[in-house]
This record gives sequence, C-alpha cells and structure tokens, in this order.
Amino acid sequence: MDFTGAHILSIKQFERADIERVFKVADSMEPYAQRRRVTRVLEGAILGNMFFEPSTRTRVSFGSAFNLLGGEVRETTGFKNSAIAKGESLYDTARVLSGYSDVICMRHPESGSVAEFAGASRVPVINGGDGANEHPSQALLDLYTIRKELADRGRSLDGLRIAMIGDLKHGRTVHSLCKLLCLFDNIHVTLVSPPELAMPEAVTENMREAGLKVVVSEDLAHGIGHVDIAYATRIQEERFTSKEEANLYRGRFRLNQAIYTQYCEPNTVIMHPLPRDSREDANELDNDLNLNPNLAIFRQADNGVLVRMALFALILDVVDQVDACARDVNWYSGSR
Ligand code: ASP
Repeated sequence: MDFTGAHILSIKQFERADIERVFKVADSMEPYAQRRRVTRVLEGAILGNMFFEPSTRTRVSFGSAFNLLGGEVRETTGFKNSAIAKGESLYDTARVLSGYSDVICMRHPESGSVAEFAGASRVPVINGGDGANEHPSQALLDLYTIRKELADRGRSLDGLRIAMIGDLKHGRTVHSLCKLLCLFDNIHVTLVSPPELAMPEAVTENMREAGLKVVVSEDLAHGIGHVDIAYATRIQEERFTSKEEANLYRGRFRLNQAIYTQYCEPNTVIMHPLPRDSREDANELDNDLNLNPNLAIFRQADNGVLVRMALFALILDVVDQVDACARDVNWYSGSR
C-alpha cells in the first residue's frame, strides 16, 4: 500500500507488510510519545479532528499524536456545533473543511459516512469510527498491543488464542480486529456474546475462509478458559433502539479478579477498547482487576498514540525526517 496521501477507511486496505510497516514506525515514535525527545517535523501542518459522536480517547490521542509531531489541531465536536445541523451535506462539509487542513480524522454515527466524506475531501481522511462499521486505527493499536504483550511473555502472534466478549454485533472495534486477524496464520478466535449480539455472519465467515479457527459461545467461563487474550467490549447502548433494550444485555458478562483466577490461564492478557462501563449494573471489567499486571487496558490506550503518530508520519510522508527535526526535551519529563 502506498501510504502517502492515502485515506485510512477500512482494515481491508491493509496487507501484512503494511501492518509490519505501521508497527515499525510506531516503535520508532516511543522517545517522542514518552516525552524524552521533541520533534517539529509537522510544524505548520493542521489536523482537522471532526468527531460527531462522543469520544475521549480516540479524539485526544489523534490530537496528541499530531501535536507530538509538531502539528496543530482544530476540533469540531458534535452535530450541534456544526453546519451539518443547518442541513449541510457531508460533501459540502468535506469540500470546505479539507481546504483548512492537511489531514482529517472523522467519527460519525452512520456506517459508510466517513468513506462518503473522504470521497469529497481534498486531503487524506482517517476513519475514527463510522457507526457500527469499522474503527481501523483501534484495530491497529489493538494488534500492536497484543504483539507487545505476547513478546513480553516470550511469545509471537503465531498461535494466538483470543476471546472477544460482549456486544460483538455493534462493536466496530472487534469488526475491524477480526478483519485484521485474517492477515495472520494459526489464529484461534472465540466469540462470546448473547446470540442476539453475535458477530455479523459476514465477519465470521470471512475469518473462517481466511483459515482462522472460530468458536462461538454464550459462556464466559468457557470462552476465557484457554486464551492468551480476553478482549472485553461495552454494550453499545447508542446503537440500540432504546435504553431498555440495551439494558437486557448490560452486565451479562462481567470479568473480575475471582472469575479471572478461577477460569483464566495464568498471564492471560485483559484488553478492552475503552471506555469500560463501570456502572454497577454493567461493570464489564471490575475495578478489582486494576492491580492485576495482566490488565493491559491502559498500556493499550498509550499504544494508541504511537500507532496514530505512525499513521500521520506515513500518510504525510515524513517518516525519514522525524529524527532530523528533533531535540531532547528541556522540561521535567519524569518516568511514565
Ligand atoms: N471507543 C470504542 C469505539 O469508539 C469502543 C466503545 O465505544 O465501546 O468504538
């Protein structure tokens, strides 16, 4: 894949070598993300960060990644504050806003909307989540995290066993992650959800056709029993027709320390795209796991900055210039 000037809309655009390239560049971003070095490589460049659905991590980590490369960020959040509320089409918004930015990140509640927007944009567009469809940068950072966590345990991706748990029907992060895993060999995926919230058939079929071993289960204890990674997800309340309907499923699968100790193999890594729903009636990942060293959710969020820096550096074609525009930091930067 030629990254220069490319839109990043779906994981389907990537081949295995592209993933290796993103991960290698992400590794090289560590001194900057950890505030040991500063680079001004994107000085003068502008990111248009357009989030029409709630977001903290994705929006802030895209923004931070761009800032860490020396660029500036302009934000639009929510429909209320946007001309879309006055009836403006995605086409017009894209034509106008792409004139003000060098690259755009966009999140929108409709599947396919970011691709439609990109079709009219004059600059590269990154999909920050389009409805229940895809969230490609999250899948990249998830796999980057899985690879790192396994490496810390002396393992590689080969033979990976992963359980995905929760609302697999609406969870765009798991849709993208499943597509990404199809590029790798010898992968075992266990899909744990209520039948009504099962992974879309097309995604499951796709994995089977790619040679992955896929098991479908409704039983959390069975699902997390023999895996390297337990990947929990939130019930995507905003995709249901009513809160009452979502409430039928909230709290159905709860992972806590006692369940972990009873059913998981030692060192099973716990992941979640976040936010975890910590309200008492949901509590999908209990706070009593916070001190469990295998809880990787905050390392996973940190890795998001590295992967997003890599995407910007590749799309704007500055990978080879990052270090030449750098110096050590001159402020207290403590240990992270
Ligand atoms: N932050 C992720 C997303 O935007 C996961 C979630 O919201 O549950 O899809």
